[in-house]
Amino acid sequence: MFDLGTGLRYSCGQSGVPSPFRGACLLTHMHWDHIQGLPFFMPTLRDGAHFDIYAPTQDDGRTVAEVFDAIIRPPMFPISLRELPGTFNFHDVADDDFMVGGYQVRSRLVPHIGNTLGFRVTWGGKTVVYLSDHQMPLDGSMGLADGARELCEGADLLIHDAQYTPHEFVEKNNWGHCTVDYALWVAAECGVKTLALFHHDPARCDDEVDQLLEAAACEGDKRGVQVFAAHEGLTVTV
Ligand SMILES: [Zn+2]
Ligand SMILES: [Zn+2]
Repeated sequence: MFDLGTGLRYSCGQSGVPSPFRGACLLTHMHWDHIQGLPFFMPTLRDGAHFDIYAPTQDDGRTVAEVFDAIIRPPMFPISLRELPGTFNFHDVADDDFMVGGYQVRSRLVPHIGNTLGFRVTWGGKTVVYLSDHQMPLDGSMGLADGARELCEGADLLIHDAQYTPHEFVEKNNWGHCTVDYALWVAAECGVKTLALFHHDPARCDDEVDQLLEAAACEGDKRGVQVFAAHEGLTVTV
């Protein structure tokens, strides 16, 4: 899985999950919206569960394990991570290429706020890229860091930050995110087949997302990129 947001509470309930549970997460960064689901992820709250978490090395020298240990403990949470029944294994990664199960994973540090990774996962000849939080150039121009380009090149599916309209970006240009237009530009620039607009602004309602999608899909048609808006419960076949 990618990231550990609140959706974890509602995904993979007790039924249908093999026991003992074995899982792995590619975690982009430590901001709240990406980590707070972890202690509520039911499959890991059972004896024998084993969960590997790959996350960015911190620039203050702390390991990923130390960061989680500092967050999941009283008074923020009733017990510490070590007291949960499952085993959590934390792996510090940066610009790396590695295997998780049978999946080929490429991680690259990408522009955001604090150390943040994007991931490229390849399996069975298909590639999915996850770039959830991506700071575009502050002046609103189009440009792409080498690491991000290495992730996106020729992907079948790119799940990309699409938080702002150009007008909103002017107000919040250093908040670590980008516009829908930028997401589409990255996809077209890197020869991506399908773009999932993701990390919608939290204040956006569904109708507004639909409107942004309509414009982006129309523009995507012209540039050879299929575009859709990610939403809760959506299943995509690659
Ligand atoms: Zn973030
Ligand atoms: Zn975020």
